[in-house]
Amino acid sequence: MTQLTPDVTTRAGRMLAAGRLTMTVKSVATGKHLTVDLSCCVRDERTGSWDNVPFSEAKWCFLQLHTGERIGTYYPQTGDLRPKPYAQKAWIWAAMATIRAACGDPHPQAEFSEMDRCGRCARPLTDPVSIQRGIGPDCWGALTGSKHASTDYVLDTEQARRMLEHDTAARSAAA
Ligand SMILES: [Zn+2]
Repeated sequence: MTQLTPDVTTRAGRMLAAGRLTMTVKSVATGKHLTVDLSCCVRDERTGSWDNVPFSEAKWCFLQLHTGERIGTYYPQTGDLRPKPYAQKAWIWAAMATIRAACGDPHPQAEFSEMDRCGRCARPLTDPVSIQRGIGPDCWGALTGSKHASTDYVLDTEQARRMLEHDTAARSAAA
């Protein structure tokens, strides 16, 4: 499989770029739908904990159904998806469709909707600007280095693109 890059001009893409995405995928053909949780991680070798990081820094993207069943792992650096042995075909399809949709390649036979949760910390989004952006004001400031972290901030595509750049300074400042 080829490597994919989040399309930060879309809300789902910004959420994926920030590291967390919860998306419902509905098959137009069958009317069935599944909700996929995606979380981008690296492992802290010192403490052994899994840390949530932006997509561009992640080694693992853990995929599970919103109901809790694990689907498998997506490897952003190679583009491989390794499903759990027990994962059903529909789960894998929904997981891959979620990633592709957030990377600007939505499946023509599917409908997508993202949950209104911050793409970085997964807290619920309530402010209209944050909902449109897909990321809360504090996390947006930490990701982009923007001083305009307040809710009246209007999305700037150029700053959204900066989310895709490796920014260790911003991450450690936010930690
Ligand atoms: Zn947040």
